[in-house]
Amino acid sequence: MKLVLATHNQGKVDELRAILSVSAPAVELVGYDGPEPVEDGTSYLENALIKARAAHRHTGLPAIADDSGIAVEILGGSPGIFTAIWSGSKDNVANRQLLLAQLRDIADEHRQAAFICTIAMVDDEGERSFTGIWPGRVAREERGEYGHGYDPVFIPEGFEVTAAELEPEVKNSMSHRSLALEQLAAYLNAVG
Ligand code: IMP
Repeated sequence: MKLVLATHNQGKVDELRAILSVSAPAVELVGYDGPEPVEDGTSYLENALIKARAAHRHTGLPAIADDSGIAVEILGGSPGIFTAIWSGSKDNVANRQLLLAQLRDIADEHRQAAFICTIAMVDDEGERSFTGIWPGRVAREERGEYGHGYDPVFIPEGFEVTAAELEPEVKNSMSHRSLALEQLAAYLNAVG
């Protein structure tokens, strides 16, 4: 079964392909280089659906897309869908530094946060979605060299190191994205 992944990000294609090749071996994940729609949804689900619908419409193939971000409890769930542009631009360093500054005076027990990933799938039969949540807290300063985005300021529950200090295989075995992908794989295996 061919599945189109609605992203121009080759790193994302590789990451999802690596996970899916183990959990849903019958699936062939292919990239998509068609037009990218404006992500003007108001939730992870809406934005994931916008991308998956566009890829399905453009290719005629079953399509998936993911949308993700970090929700910080004391910020009322923000940055949320604004995670990628929290500082006003897509600058990861500026985004992380703004978050650390906002929480500067907040004690560890009030720094709860979670990475969230929603994957939407669209085909001729309809639409469905899968969501993974990875709980933790916001660190007091940046640490670690692995990963990307907010990994250096996120301490997963049960750890005292940041996600950027975890080996990628360890992160990928428990992250919000792999939790959502596991559900997608279970669905794909069930429908054959
Ligand atoms: P996107 O959905 O891949 O565009 O990601 C949205 C935002 O969430 C970006 O700022 C990413 O850096 C951040 N983000 C999503 N997943 C992760 C993760 O696994 N680690 C760190 N940051 C992430």
